[in-house]
Amino acid sequence: MEKSQVTTKELLDYDRNHLWHPYTSITEPLPVYAVESAEGVRIRLTDGRELIDGMASWWSVIHGYNNPVLTSALQKQAAKLSHVMFGGLTHKPAVELSKLLVDHSPEGLDKVFLCDSGSVAVEVAMKMAMQYQFARGFKGKNRFLTIRSGYHGDTFHAMSVCDPVSGMHQIYKGVLPEYYFADRPECRFGDSWNPDDIESFRCLIKEYKHELCAVILEPIVQGAGGMRFYHPEYLRMARKLCTESDVLLIADEIATGFGRSGELFACNHAGISPDILCLGKAMTGGYLTLAAVLATDKVGTTISGTDPGVFMHGPTFMGNPLACSVAVASLNLLLESNWKSNIQRIQGALLKGLTPCCYLQGVADVRVLGAIGVVELRSPVDMADIQAKFVERGVWVRPFGKLVYVMPPYCMTNEDLAILTNAICEVVSLEGNS
Ligand SMILES: *Cc1c(COP(=O)(O)O)cnc(C)c1O
Repeated sequence: MEKSQVTTKELLDYDRNHLWHPYTSITEPLPVYAVESAEGVRIRLTDGRELIDGMASWWSVIHGYNNPVLTSALQKQAAKLSHVMFGGLTHKPAVELSKLLVDHSPEGLDKVFLCDSGSVAVEVAMKMAMQYQFARGFKGKNRFLTIRSGYHGDTFHAMSVCDPVSGMHQIYKGVLPEYYFADRPECRFGDSWNPDDIESFRCLIKEYKHELCAVILEPIVQGAGGMRFYHPEYLRMARKLCTESDVLLIADEIATGFGRSGELFACNHAGISPDILCLGKAMTGGYLTLAAVLATDKVGTTISGTDPGVFMHGPTFMGNPLACSVAVASLNLLLESNWKSNIQRIQGALLKGLTPCCYLQGVADVRVLGAIGVVELRSPVDMADIQAKFVERGVWVRPFGKLVYVMPPYCMTNEDLAILTNAICEVVSLEGNS
């Protein structure tokens, strides 16, 4: 059969019988929708329907789909060099990207490790922290401290620092390393600071500093672990306690990097620099998978100063030229734009559009920071049911648990933001009544 003649029904049937989707059952899969193409903020389904995308494909499509600048950067690079091994070889896209990251990330981070995905970046960061302590002769400093309600990825060590409850640590008991978890911050972004908020963290780091190689946390915005925005003073205190306790700080900005929270990097809300920084998701504007781990000169030189003298990691597709070139184009596009006032515009529109949800029966909380809007319900949603209601209204929103949340592409107009937030209010009001 000609490929072009495959019907949507055949495609969906084959998908249903053979393909895993993220966090789904292979025997009882939830419905999926077949996508034909996407342009700007609109996803076009094979049946012709168009959906305004509230998810930016999980934080990543910041400049919209099929962006002419990014597509052209990718095409030009593909015509020249799609891939070459990074062992013993280098190229302009990797160097250009690394320079942009060093120049614009929080101060002091000037060594760059390019890798394939966010979870791998977290693995790399954790290995770096461990190797750093080993190189200093501290073999016993090999454990991590993190905070509850966090999310750091799906590979094993990344999973070990995800929230133990939502990360389902009990099913991997005995396999996952068991690390230390401080209470999640309760003091919100914009609230007045309560020093008690950091007590649990302070006690743990003081008690276990001789075992700890690093703290790993998501600065300011806790993403998939709960969509919570916490007080910058918590982050400043955490930085200070890490320094005092001789423990590294790893900031996981895979979700927040590149403007999403209203600052280019969420660490900037607190004016701090981590020792190691993880970036991913929005780095290529959602075109290709790519992540980066930045570290201080001290981390880099210490690791390299002692046997084995090298950092023990090197993925096959490290520094992929296609991904790097589209990342360079995406970053330049962002930096040359009026991104800060644009994010403020989106923040205003999300606040205006989602605040009416506060008064609905089934709603526990509404919160907005930068281009992130969250409606927290009192009980978990029925995913298949709520997804269909959003699609009927011409928007793409994918809630999880009690959280209906959006992080739209930065190019979404106020008109489309209004359609998106109206649909959320409407669907959420139906939830409250069912
Ligand atoms: C998405 C995410 C990851 C994992 O990235 P993948 O590319 O999905 O492996 C890690 N940390 C945070 C904060 C994330 O949001």
